[in-house]
Amino acid sequence: MKRSRMLAVLVGGIFCVAVMSLYRMLDLMQGSESKRYGEPPGGQVDEDLAHLQQKIDGLERLLSDNNRLVAMLRDTLLQSKASAWKRANNSIDSALGRRGEALPGCRLAKEMKDGVDGVQLLDVYDLLPFDNPDGGPWKQGFEITYKGDEWSEQPLELFLIPHSHNDPGWIKTFDAYYHDQTRHILDNMVVKLSEDNRRKLIWAEISYFSKWWNDIDDQKRAAVKRLVEAGQLELVTGGWVMPDEANSHYFAMLDQLMEGHQWLQKHLGVKPRSGWAIDPFGHSPSMAYLLKGAGLHNMLIQRVHYSIKKHFAQQQTLEFLWRQSWDSSSRSDITCHMMPFYSYDVPHTCGPNPAVCCQFDFQRLPGRRTFCPWKIPPKPITDQNVHERALLLLDQYRQKSRLFRSSVLLVPLGDDFRYVESSEWDVQFNNYQKLFDYFNQHPELHIKARFGTLSDYFQALHRRLSTTRTTLPKLRGDFFSYADRDDHYWTGYFTSRPFYKRLDRKLEATLRATEILFSLTLAEMRRSHSDGRLAENFPAREYFQWLTTGRRNLALFQHHDAVAGTEREHVVVDYGTRLFQSILNLHQVLQSSAHWLLLLDKSQYHHDQSKSLIIFNPTEQLRTSVISVVVDSPDAQVIDAETGRQMSTQISAVWAEPSRPSTDTFQVRTSSLIRLLITAVCFNFLFSHSSSPSWLNFLLCHSSCTIILLTCFYFEIQKLRLQSGLVRKIQVQFLWYGTRTGSRDKSGAYLFLPADEGLYISSEPPLVRISRGPIFSDITSHFPHFTHTVRLFHLDGHAGKSLEISNLVDIRSQVNRELVMKIVSDVASGNRFYSDLNGFQMQQRRTLAKLPLQANFYPMTSAVFLQDSTSRLSLLSAQSQGVASLKPGELELVLDRRLQQDDNRGLGQGVTDNKLTASLYHLLLEDRGGGAKICRWGLVSRHIDHLSLLAHLASLSLCHPPMTMVATSNSQLLKLRPFQPLHSSLPCDIHLLNLRTLEDTQEADTPSQETALFLHRKGFDCSTAPEPAPQCTWSEHEEVMTRSPFI
Ligand SMILES: [Zn+2]
Repeated sequence: MKRSRMLAVLVGGIFCVAVMSLYRMLDLMQGSESKRYGEPPGGQVDEDLAHLQQKIDGLERLLSDNNRLVAMLRDTLLQSKASAWKRANNSIDSALGRRGEALPGCRLAKEMKDGVDGVQLLDVYDLLPFDNPDGGPWKQGFEITYKGDEWSEQPLELFLIPHSHNDPGWIKTFDAYYHDQTRHILDNMVVKLSEDNRRKLIWAEISYFSKWWNDIDDQKRAAVKRLVEAGQLELVTGGWVMPDEANSHYFAMLDQLMEGHQWLQKHLGVKPRSGWAIDPFGHSPSMAYLLKGAGLHNMLIQRVHYSIKKHFAQQQTLEFLWRQSWDSSSRSDITCHMMPFYSYDVPHTCGPNPAVCCQFDFQRLPGRRTFCPWKIPPKPITDQNVHERALLLLDQYRQKSRLFRSSVLLVPLGDDFRYVESSEWDVQFNNYQKLFDYFNQHPELHIKARFGTLSDYFQALHRRLSTTRTTLPKLRGDFFSYADRDDHYWTGYFTSRPFYKRLDRKLEATLRATEILFSLTLAEMRRSHSDGRLAENFPAREYFQWLTTGRRNLALFQHHDAVAGTEREHVVVDYGTRLFQSILNLHQVLQSSAHWLLLLDKSQYHHDQSKSLIIFNPTEQLRTSVISVVVDSPDAQVIDAETGRQMSTQISAVWAEPSRPSTDTFQVRTSSLIRLLITAVCFNFLFSHSSSPSWLNFLLCHSSCTIILLTCFYFEIQKLRLQSGLVRKIQVQFLWYGTRTGSRDKSGAYLFLPADEGLYISSEPPLVRISRGPIFSDITSHFPHFTHTVRLFHLDGHAGKSLEISNLVDIRSQVNRELVMKIVSDVASGNRFYSDLNGFQMQQRRTLAKLPLQANFYPMTSAVFLQDSTSRLSLLSAQSQGVASLKPGELELVLDRRLQQDDNRGLGQGVTDNKLTASLYHLLLEDRGGGAKICRWGLVSRHIDHLSLLAHLASLSLCHPPMTMVATSNSQLLKLRPFQPLHSSLPCDIHLLNLRTLEDTQEADTPSQETALFLHRKGFDCSTAPEPAPQCTWSEHEEVMTRSPFI
């Protein structure tokens, strides 16, 4: 890859994930080759030329913009460099306090905060009583009335949308579902849609679609392309899966979307236009943002709290423009349709009365596989009954239509794994066609009915809205936490299977690091060869296949029954095996790429041998970090391979048992030199047996009585004191939650239905270990069900400013219990706290007394904070889990759940496959006095807040630790040299999300010369002053353009 071909990104707006739009790029590369979805194929030469001319004009404009911005950036960089150290020296109090100016860049954040309009979901929560009255046939709603003449001028325009919800793993594994059901559905689709061009189907999961594509012949592929071109088959969303929106990190959400979209672009030449998310257990605006960025115009959501649905139905706001909380413009707006009723099956989609709607699910005809629990079975449509049946159904359609502002009506027709058998297609499509024919032959009924795709519906909706000059309301906020009935809140799945939630993030970090280093390696190889070819002895194709498998395994795990932890035991083992295998393979790619990059003499490269210890910092920031390596001697020294200088190190024991150190393994930690950008460096270990480290200090203490232990333990972090003088009291406690007794409903994989709550009290005194050294000090407490460690790194800069907290949890001996870590502080946070959504943005939460305890738990993907007018306490997390702040100053984090029973949501199992599970956090206390004084944004009314710059950096370090690669041979050490591809640190509010090598469009499974660069410009809080000042600048302009950041 020539550097000039590495595409840099223009990041517009303060929060843009600059999705290096694959489409844009492919569009530019392929020109008129690409076909628009639904447009007639082919085209005249003149049109093509005109199209091409437009593209060239567009490119010229882009180039000119580019040049202007590059010039601007160069100036900015020069100024920034000069001012960075000045700013650091002047420190924040002069930048903030004395001069009375906000941090540069805050102006924009302020505008974003001032720009709040439209409906705020938090306000809706304040408004609603959550009293759950019986609504009659529509149990969770109300009686819907109509006069009958509402459709006289504008007929009801019905789109019945056939769909089949295919979980990529749940009760069965992905492969088992594919073989037993999915491939038959898709095979039958080709036949049954081809029989009648009025028939339609939408399909969401590209993981299944691509697997099936590999199995079918060219003839079938051609038939599929015809169906897509004819608009009979629409690929909706186009993601690899329909992701969980609570536990997924936005890196993985985007990656799975890209994997699916790239596949569609390559094999079908289509770009999805509408999103379809009927089953994720709550919905996040981060997903809406990514869909909009990926070129989608519309989306549909389903699992929303029943009280919110009812309120929105009353207000006719079930269709709205979903806007990002922080966006003062309409840039992020996407049209969203919220389904009004309980479920996405047929009984809950044709109208408010499930007993009636069920009669129109013809798969439930007597003698077929399933039935209507409301005890009135469907009847086949005949000439004799069509009048009566049509009117019965029309009544439901009309009632449903009254909940929306337009008279265009969306009604899904499907369920989980539907249309497997050929006969199901016949009963559904034939019976409905008879009803539609009847409707269309009776204009006095004022209904135009047909099968449609999702985009057919949205197209008609927008047309109708525009002719009637109807506008949709704007909405901000998220749809957590979800309850489907009564007090059944789906807040358990925020934590279920925490071992795998952590493994997910391990693969994510490994994949990102490997993507970056692999792309840089290919670029470096192409640069070193004048003809741009790759090194012959580097297995680029094989590695690219491993990368692709890694991407797809991570993508598969984002499915809403995978990372959610709501799948059967053997299915989670299948996912876990995929994740683990990919981590191993990607490590090999990483190690081999690093080795090639570091070798001075590239001819000595061999892909299966690597030398020495190599550290790769996968972040875009200069960082001081502690590197930990396990060695077999306590006398290890670390030598910088380049300079021969001995590094400062600290040797610690590896504990064979809580009180018995291993005699043959030790951990050596070193820091200092690891001040890198995206850099690989190498070290050498020397083992001298002459002296033992004198500073090694282990203190073992067996406490003698429980009370002393509790004192010792619970007050372990007593006070955190900042240089500014701010002091906050902080304690860590542990709690148990039980589940309800005497009730049919108990906690399970999805639901959290807690009963008693109690402080964790150990029957045995814990063992407490304390280590001190030049690099870190820590205290570890061993309890029967967990090991809790608090560690302070003695490092300069931001890395030394937060406390590392880690837990190792084992609750396998328990019955129906959940273990919670509670942080108790004197931060006066009231009933508010902030948790992140997908690691992408922060969302304010309000703990409401009118809701049951379990309703006040929210998902945390990577961060949570509490604040008052003078301080902020942030907890940054390396894994997803459930979090709550039930009392002011407190945070509860659910660490693991062991539940003996199913919770009646179809899984048919409890959660009893617990494992020894690690969790990792950084706790950061910050002073916000100066900032709060200056910003004066009214602490009470604000909905929007962001992490501080320091918290962003701490989170980055936590989620993307340095990658350590070790090999024992040292024969070629001196021939290695560090590799530093970046000019300098990127601004510290800019995150290099990914550098992703794209697949060759001609040759399958082969890396192309194109690489997608993703930059994310993050919002940051202005009232929390970075202390010490980070050694990076932050971007001050609304539009940030970087020249290629690579050397
Ligand atoms: Zn599902």
